Amino acid sequence: MDTSAKKIGAGAQARHSLQARIRWQDNVVTVGGDAPVRIQSMTNTDTVDAVGTAIQVKELALAGSELVRITVNTPEAAQAVPYIREQLDRMGIAVPLIGDFHYNGHRLLSEFPDCAQALSKYRINPGNVGKGDKKDKQFGQMIEAALRWDKPVRIGVNWGSLDQELLADMMDSNSRLAQPLTAKEVMYQALISSAVGSAELAQSMGMAPSQILISCKVSGVQDLIAVYRELSRTTRYPLHLGLTEAGMGTKGTVASAAALSVLLQEGIGDTIRISLTPAPGESRNQEVVVAAEILQALGLRAFVPSVTACPGCGRTTSTTFQELTQQIDNFLRDQMPVWRAQYPGVESLKVAVMGCIVNGPGESKHADIGISLPGTGEAPAAPVYIDGEKRMTLRGDGIATEFQTVVENYIRQRYGAPQPS
Ligand code: SF4
Repeated sequence: MDTSAKKIGAGAQARHSLQARIRWQDNVVTVGGDAPVRIQSMTNTDTVDAVGTAIQVKELALAGSELVRITVNTPEAAQAVPYIREQLDRMGIAVPLIGDFHYNGHRLLSEFPDCAQALSKYRINPGNVGKGDKKDKQFGQMIEAALRWDKPVRIGVNWGSLDQELLADMMDSNSRLAQPLTAKEVMYQALISSAVGSAELAQSMGMAPSQILISCKVSGVQDLIAVYRELSRTTRYPLHLGLTEAGMGTKGTVASAAALSVLLQEGIGDTIRISLTPAPGESRNQEVVVAAEILQALGLRAFVPSVTACPGCGRTTSTTFQELTQQIDNFLRDQMPVWRAQYPGVESLKVAVMGCIVNGPGESKHADIGISLPGTGEAPAAPVYIDGEKRMTLRGDGIATEFQTVVENYIRQRYGAPQPS
């Protein structure tokens, strides 16, 4: 048997998109090129409620969202935008705000200059800017506003609101071909054509290509992969990526992770959003948490220390193992807003909480700090491994509290500023 080690696997492919700069005052979020894949989210408050919207934007930003989109759908909403911005500035939240416009964006951006100025980017849906000869004119008015206020735009196509005139024209042309494409293939082409055609029109009006992001959102995993592969093959605009209308809970999370993982691994996607439907009463932050987990699981970014835990089995007959895993995970997440500044690099920490001796010591040694709890029939002792070495054994009812203290001490020593001697 050949036992020599071979190099297996590689990281995600490099992205080749242009780099956009999205600013609010001194805060610049770079998107595309070699910038990290950014997390975006969207509020579900009524934008007219400036205080409620500012609070939700703050929560999303503190959860890790680097760009937050808000609906700007009425004159009242447009009037509220500068107040939302002001509230955020007062709270020290410099996250860029993106305005989501449909149908009347051309009017709102012209009639409410304070709104146009307070936003850091405009999302334009080419399927919803107007019909017939009004389409290019109203799209042009939005691009003029972007040029006047020096704002990037996202040309955001969605198959639920795809330009029906364009689709009908493409279907007609396709039917005259000797070997026509399938209806689905024409739809893919129409999505891409709508986004890229609008981006080229914006460019012809004077926008720099790096300031134009595009997206073509669909709700099917294989459809999204097919469309974005083609987009990435044919353009260099920074790409915003997300499975639209992903759904609720586990279904939405898994479908988003499946689609985005394939594309991100291929170097496709510069900003991501997870479009989860929250359960009644569920925090809007969940979409940010899932986005961060996808990027962290792929090894593209690190946001919070990761906790490796076994699933448990017949060897774990008490709930101690589950409780300790949850307690440590919650503790690490809860501390991150403070630790991020206090302990730079702590987000890369790896902790293991394991249920028994079968894989416990081995997995714990692979982590920075790990604990192997006693399984059924094992001696009531929990060895703790630090940097691959067994350092202590915890016993008794206080294992959870003691392990948390051990983790805290490790973080302070490894990531804290050196103490003056
Ligand atoms: S480490 Fe032990 S308790 Fe955990 S899944 Fe494996 S055998 Fe079961």
